[in-house]
Amino acid sequence: MVALKHRNLKLFTLALALFAITIMSFLLNYTQNSGLVLWNPEKYFRFSGPIIRFMTSVRRPCSCETCVSEAENSVWFDERFNYTIPPLMTKQSNMVSEITYKWWTRLQGEKKPMEINKAIEEMFNVIPGHNNLQDQNPYRCRTCAVVGNSGNLKGSEYGGEIDGHSFVFRMNHAPTAKYEKDVGNKTTHHFVYPESVRDLQDNVSMVLIPFKTLDLQWIVSALTTGTINFTYAPVPRKIKVTKDKILVYHPDFMKYIYDKWLLHHGRYPSTGILSVIFALHVCDQVDLYGFGADSKGNWHHYWENNPSAGAFRQTGVHDGDFEAEIIGNLTSINKIKVYKGR
Ligand code: C5P
Repeated sequence: MVALKHRNLKLFTLALALFAITIMSFLLNYTQNSGLVLWNPEKYFRFSGPIIRFMTSVRRPCSCETCVSEAENSVWFDERFNYTIPPLMTKQSNMVSEITYKWWTRLQGEKKPMEINKAIEEMFNVIPGHNNLQDQNPYRCRTCAVVGNSGNLKGSEYGGEIDGHSFVFRMNHAPTAKYEKDVGNKTTHHFVYPESVRDLQDNVSMVLIPFKTLDLQWIVSALTTGTINFTYAPVPRKIKVTKDKILVYHPDFMKYIYDKWLLHHGRYPSTGILSVIFALHVCDQVDLYGFGADSKGNWHHYWENNPSAGAFRQTGVHDGDFEAEIIGNLTSINKIKVYKGR
């Protein structure tokens, strides 16, 4: 009789605990998805963060406080964001669609290009092409700093903060030596095209953004024979980069950005917006540094002494205002944070 009572009591306690966990989990998911703050248990249980994150992770794409890819109440975002489009070319995802190819091959007016599939095949004979970065899981909180090249980084002292991210994306000529205090010194991925390339440290992944077939041939040449030294401008014959860490930006992903995000503004997307949208697809939390004018309205690079240089604005092929609008909208719906510098 006593044993039976004990068993009933145990069962009752277990049922009660399960009920409490379900209610807590429901409340957390509800508040996180709706943006409403009904109840914040972390305020009450100091050490409950990891437990709560574990409990709610079942239904969330990541373990950060907010996850970029989480469905939000933003029609604007949902109409644009398409997680199924692969950001990188890999051996498995190595086809360029016909519609992309027609658009892409006109970007830099390439005449008599090599057959694209042959160029891709030759490229993946030299570089591995197996890393796809879209390894999202509910226990991961991948924070990314996307560091643009704006002069607003000068004197910002963001260096430590930038280096604190899981991934740090930099682009084009961006130097870190001598600018560490403002821009940091960690780089995990460096986005370049042949005309903007620089030597990279051994632990850095170069993300090649190809704008033409010749760019795919150039990477092969730069790692082997060194025969190509000119595209529409001089390019280095050889580069110092870790071959096995090279990644290649997918032209279909570039076209997706041009169609869905840029709505055909400008001739093609800038390295900056290509890196930002890429980050939305591979990171859980995205922070932007070095984007936009400085506080005096100058558009120079952080390593330039002449603030009126206006480098980014002078390219003529990108719609800087529209790209800034996209970044502004992403900020206003809390998908990204922008650190404006000085
Ligand atoms: O000039 P560059 O293309 O190397 O800069 C990389 C990116 O940084 C640009 O595509 C742009 O998005 C951003 N940038 C900016 N403001 C500047 C300079 C660069 O927003 N003054």
